Amino acid sequence: MEHKQLISLVIPCYNEQDALPVVYRTICGVAAGMRNQDFEFIFVDDGSTDGTLELLHEYRKNSRVRYLSFSRNFGKEAAVLAGMRYAKGDYLVVMDADMQDPPSFISQMYTFLRENTDYDCVAARRTTRRGEPLLRSFCAHCFYRFINKISKTEIADGARDFRCMTRKMVDAILSLREYNRFSKGIFGWVGFKTKWLEYENVERAAGKTKWSFLKLLLYSMDGIIAFSTVPLTVASVVGLICCFLAVVLAVVFTVKTLILGDPVAGFPTLICVILLVGGVQIFSTGILGQYLAKTYLEVKHRPVYLIRETEKSKNYSTPQKGDCPVCPDQRSDQSATEENRP
Ligand code: UDP
Ligand code: MG
Repeated sequence: MEHKQLISLVIPCYNEQDALPVVYRTICGVAAGMRNQDFEFIFVDDGSTDGTLELLHEYRKNSRVRYLSFSRNFGKEAAVLAGMRYAKGDYLVVMDADMQDPPSFISQMYTFLRENTDYDCVAARRTTRRGEPLLRSFCAHCFYRFINKISKTEIADGARDFRCMTRKMVDAILSLREYNRFSKGIFGWVGFKTKWLEYENVERAAGKTKWSFLKLLLYSMDGIIAFSTVPLTVASVVGLICCFLAVVLAVVFTVKTLILGDPVAGFPTLICVILLVGGVQIFSTGILGQYLAKTYLEVKHRPVYLIRETEKSKNYSTPQKGDCPVCPDQRSDQSATEENRP
């Protein structure tokens, strides 16, 4: 008999006590509707300071639930990586804990991958950014246009991290050992045939976004540095153009002074040239510094995250069928999950 496929849902959570109950109820409903598949829900508590972890302790009564809790906030990228490493599924879905990634898509995504074995990923892409501040949407569009021009890796505008992947693709992603992780780029870099599901932006069920404008700006810079070296080339080219201009100006001024006897107004010219060249130098050094800083972080080989607690480190009694009021048809023990480890 063909074994039931295990689908791992990886859900990064940072201060999501308000939205998490809605997400949990909804994914329990999705799992109940897909009876021919096994599910594991992997919640990654990214150092939340609200009641998120307490909720996970509660959900642990459901044998489908596994969780990791970090020693502090390490960021969404770290949480997604930890969840992917912890997952055992034949298929893996990454989704946010705020209902902006509609859980109702999971069945459609999985079915598509089962029926189209030449595809390894079904990913969601927002066609609108309704509900988002205009400036944020505009900057996001500009960022995607820019990064796609300067990077060989395609990073789709509007692409969410919400996607269902085969084990093959998950293992490929996990084989990338970089410290500075920019998932949207990594998903594109590993390749694999991807089917895009388009949908209109959905607003958060509750709580607030964790991304301020400044955080997004820094994140986009991380993306550019991680997936393109064009800024370094630009710095070199601008340097060359400055040298060329300096030679041309030197010739012009020499000719004007020697042949035409035209005195050059020295002070203003000098100030302008010094400011221009100084600015270009500092700008170029800044770009170089950014790459150097990232390299420094990479060579330190620090762990991307530290785990403080998992469902295994707590002394729980084994969850029994019916323990969880939200998900009464859960498996009666954890063995099904263990057996499915590829
Ligand atoms: N998140 C996280 N760590 C962080 C920030 C966010 O794990 O430091 C999680 C958050 O709980 C949510 C997902 O990442 O599940 C997306 O975050 P958010 O909704 O704030 O981002 P947005 O949808 O506004 O881009
Ligand atoms: Mg969100």
